Amino acid sequence: MTSTQTGSCLCGAIRYTISVPVTELRACHCTHCQKASGAAGSVNAVVPGASFNITQGAPKRYAATAESGRTLYRYFCGDCGSPIYSHRATTPETLVVRAGTLDDSSAMKITMNIWTRSARPWAWIDPASKQHPAQPEAPS
Ligand SMILES: [Zn+2]
Ligand SMILES: [Zn+2]
Repeated sequence: MTSTQTGSCLCGAIRYTISVPVTELRACHCTHCQKASGAAGSVNAVVPGASFNITQGAPKRYAATAESGRTLYRYFCGDCGSPIYSHRATTPETLVVRAGTLDDSSAMKITMNIWTRSARPWAWIDPASKQHPAQPEAPS
């Protein structure tokens, strides 16, 4: 298995690579991720910014003000609308990449669920995973 992961948006206009191995995923049940995904929330690989490279296309950016008052930049394909990744305005060194845009995530599993207090009643949360009602205390 190579440690370089590849991914894209639905239409293929945007492609990216992640140059570090990813095995653990974090599911976010915040209301913003629900609206942005049109689903139960988002499932993400949290990776160093330096490991992430856009190899094709240019995502659009939406600046959202989180419940905490922080600005979160959400990057998405302007053609097909796929959410690709996000980061806090103040911490671009940590990126949160939408796992559903990865070409292959067969070696990954959800190990943490965050913002479970706003989880939809029909969201599935693995009881064996770590769970936080809101944002975890320590940045991960
Ligand atoms: Zn697209
Ligand atoms: Zn979220």
